[in-house]
Amino acid sequence: MRVPIIAGNWKMFKTVGEAAGFVREVKGKAEVDGVESVICAPFIHLPVLAEAVKGSSLKLGAQNLHWADSGAYTGEISGVMLQDLGVRYVIIGHSERRAYFAETDETVNAKMHAAFKHGLTPIVCVGEKLEQREAGQTKEVCRIQTGAAFKGLDGAQAAMAVIAYEPIWAIGTGKSSTATDANEVIGYIRQVVEAMFGSAVSAKIRIQYGGSVKPENIREFMRQPEIDGALVGGASLEPGSYIQLVEGAR
Ligand code: PGA
Repeated sequence: MRVPIIAGNWKMFKTVGEAAGFVREVKGKAEVDGVESVICAPFIHLPVLAEAVKGSSLKLGAQNLHWADSGAYTGEISGVMLQDLGVRYVIIGHSERRAYFAETDETVNAKMHAAFKHGLTPIVCVGEKLEQREAGQTKEVCRIQTGAAFKGLDGAQAAMAVIAYEPIWAIGTGKSSTATDANEVIGYIRQVVEAMFGSAVSAKIRIQYGGSVKPENIREFMRQPEIDGALVGGASLEPGSYIQLVEGAR
């Protein structure tokens, strides 16, 4: 049985004080048996949130990491630093980072290796642009991005990873993929993982859907057999909404 995972991707929102207030409000509530609940906050929030989540089952994630352990990389944060804080997850290759910060399949792969080196579970994002969907290239894009992300990893690592399938046209637009469409693409991504690592790994790896997931539609996605949770942006920012998302994943 794969444990469903709800991850809130806060992107560049909230002050540190607001973030701590959020955790106080959701503690004990956005915690449901059989669902993993992960808050992916901006880097500067993480030390304060690491304290705030103590005594709860809430887990912390970062939204990026550098592939090197340390070095002359102004403005970057390494896996060593994240692990030291008790961060458990890290989003890698989000489409916004691919689009605005020159993230490539190669840097995504280097960051996957760095995450595992430092005991962090990657949430690696794949997904097609609108024009690629319209050209019938959705599966091809997901196959290439997944293959590149997992290059050189072993089966044990792949089985622990999380993939977020996020069709780019559905992110922050209010236009979510239909649950059945998302289920089909996620089933295909699972086949790609099976071709690389075998069926024991593909049966274990968790694959989320992301893109305009809200309390109103979370159950529809969770009813699909291939979908193991959601990576949620906008609807994860408000405590009440986040609690409903976690409850909806049960
Ligand atoms: P959204 O963002 O839920 O606001 O569409 C999802 C994401 O970017 O991970």
